[in-house]
Amino acid sequence: MNDRYCRQVIIPQIGAEGQEKLSRSGVFVIGAGGLGSSALFYLASAGVGRIGFADSDSVCLSNLNRQILHNIRDIGRYKTDSGREKLVNLNDEIEIISFNERITDLNIKNIINGYDIVLGAVDSFETRFIINRACISLNIPYIDGGINGFSGCVMFSSPPQTPCFSCVFPLSAKKHPARTSKEKEATGALGATAGVIGTFQANIALLRLLGRPNPAANKLLIYDGLQMSVDHVDIKRNDKCPACGHY
Ligand SMILES: [Zn+2]
Repeated sequence: MNDRYCRQVIIPQIGAEGQEKLSRSGVFVIGAGGLGSSALFYLASAGVGRIGFADSDSVCLSNLNRQILHNIRDIGRYKTDSGREKLVNLNDEIEIISFNERITDLNIKNIINGYDIVLGAVDSFETRFIINRACISLNIPYIDGGINGFSGCVMFSSPPQTPCFSCVFPLSAKKHPARTSKEKEATGALGATAGVIGTFQANIALLRLLGRPNPAANKLLIYDGLQMSVDHVDIKRNDKCPACGHY
């Protein structure tokens, strides 16, 4: 076994067999910002064999309080170029695929098709609904993360075994209009919170890929960084959900 993974293959819940499972797996991360930075770093370092990610933004100075994939030398570069460079430097034994594209209803299925899990690391409800619909249609589990100040939440979705994102956040995208970049900048975002939530998403993905029990199924995980608490709130499917109600 490769020295790179020697410290994790000795973990009983992973072992050589688990490491082999990770190497044969593919995870797609939508967004290479705050959540995406930590999720991508830990998925790549753990040896997930194929990692795809998408982002259409460029790096700016106000990203650097939380988006640790990027640094001052990357300002003005596309996040896909900057992120890809860091991930390849971290682990050159896995496949890294980047898409410098804004995710839409039209392109998403082609981009995420064939991956085992999709992570949502975006700050737009509109995009989350797009990811949710595509993941249901392709039958790919979706792990969503979101942050606000010192708080964050994580939701695992794989209907019909669990609720989908729209079951729990039932308002349509029209009721969560796309925010302008000025409005986004007015929302507090702390690097440590993004790091925790992105790492939770990566951890849930790794458990799933290893075939371990999933403690996030049918729960909304709510993290409070002021109290250092994590609540597991029960969530249920909505039979009339417009996204997954047909199951
Ligand atoms: Zn649903």
